[in-house]
Parts: sequence; structure tokens; C-alpha cells
Amino acid sequence: MQEYKVTALKLGSLGVPKAAMTYMSGFDKSINLPVWAAAVEGNGVKMLIDTGIRDHDKWDRELNPCWREKDESIEAALSEIGWALSDVDIVINSHLHYDHAENNTSFRNAQFVVSRVEWEYAKNPIPSQVKLYDFEWTDEAITQLNYTLVSVDDYDVLPGIRLIQTPGHSKGHQSVVVNTSQGLLCVAGDAACLPESFWRPSPPGGATSIEEGFASLERIRNSAARVLMNHDPNLAKYQDSDYPLIPAVGSDPLPGELETIPDRAPHS
Ligand SMILES: [Zn+2]
Repeated sequence: MQEYKVTALKLGSLGVPKAAMTYMSGFDKSINLPVWAAAVEGNGVKMLIDTGIRDHDKWDRELNPCWREKDESIEAALSEIGWALSDVDIVINSHLHYDHAENNTSFRNAQFVVSRVEWEYAKNPIPSQVKLYDFEWTDEAITQLNYTLVSVDDYDVLPGIRLIQTPGHSKGHQSVVVNTSQGLLCVAGDAACLPESFWRPSPPGGATSIEEGFASLERIRNSAARVLMNHDPNLAKYQDSDYPLIPAVGSDPLPGELETIPDRAPHS
């Protein structure tokens, strides 16, 4: 089976209520969360799973505290691993929330892969998610024709790159199971946000279906050994191996896990 190298790229940070990421827990806390994209390379192909935020200032004004360092723009993060925007052949979006898809139109040479359910849902989301879809992921150059809309589960984008449907956080959310030298790695998107998502277990509190969210956590657990969560506070910038093993239900928190999450956003 073809193997791929996966590198986590940091594309800024968000300050959010913890309860948005962990259902029925953390109502009294705000936490700082990194925004990760995953650069996937192998089989002669360069892929990106999620594209992150473009207009940090807009979201900072309109939604949540949102900021980035100089080297956390999509262009700067890709250049750290020697990629240009134009090198990316395939973009897979876990879902179309702004922090996962706002840079889509920067990738002029890419084919995009999104679930058809998510594509349709994004036009008419539930009221609590309307703001999350308030940006353009198509323009005059990137149209629906540039998007492959996937209608089936277990869809192989390439040998060793499989999409699994993981709804709950959004209606058409998908995760990506990648074959790596360390076994199967699931790039989870927002189906799981923190290690406690698995050990508690706890789907995201920001959700279209809590029931589906719980089922999606099990789906991920049964599909891969390791996980890259697109807001995991414990990943290192440009981490390209040793992603965490998926914690067992009821297992103790990782040492220091709770302490590494600041209890306050940097500004309100
Ligand atoms: Zn989301």
C-alpha cells in the first residue's frame, strides 16, 4: 500500500468557549486552539487537508478572538516545507467552515474534494452555524466544476487516502484516513477536537447531531491507530510523524494535557 508523509501546518489560532469543542463540559472556560492544515505528500502527489483561515481580522471582529503569527499564513506555512500554492494538486476539505476552507480559492491548480452532503448543507445551515459559512469558497476561477462532490462512504481519493463520513459537527463532515509509515492516521477535522474527545468520550458541542458525533468518534477509532485533530493544542508546528495514538475510552488524560490548555483567550 502506498505510504504518505503528513505534516501539520499551523495557520493561526482561535479563542473559543471550551464547550464548543466538548459536549456538555467546559462551560466556564475559554481555550486557545491552533488551526491546523495537514500537508500530505506521496505517490507523486501533493495534497492539503483543510486550508485554514485567510481573513483573521474579520473573524476576530465578527466571531471569536482569532489571530496569527507572521509565519502562519498559508503561503508562509507551505513555504516552510518547500511548497508553493501552485504545487497543490488536491485539496480535501473535512467540512466547509471558515477555519477549514477560507483559503480554498488560493489553490488555482487544485482539484477539491468535499462531501456532497456538506456542499448542499453549506447553502442552508442550521442557524447556529450560518456565520461559520459566511465566506466564498468559489470565485471566478474556482467554480463548482473544480470540486469533486463525494456521495459515498469509504471513498478512495488515491490508494492509501480514504475518506470516511464523520457527520455530527456538521452535516456532511468527512475525515481522511492516510496510510503512513507509522500505520493508519486519521486526519479527523473537527469530528474530534481534543484528546478528551476520545477518552471522555465527547463529540464537539458545536454540532448538527450529537448522536452522529458520538458515532463518528467510534468510526475514527475503528478506522485508524493514530489521529491528527485539526485543533489539537498538543501538536508541534510542522510535526510530520509521531501523531498521538487514539486514546481509549476511560483512559487517563495524557500527562499535562489539561494544563497545556490556557483557560482564557488572549483578548475578548
Ligand atoms: Zn468546524
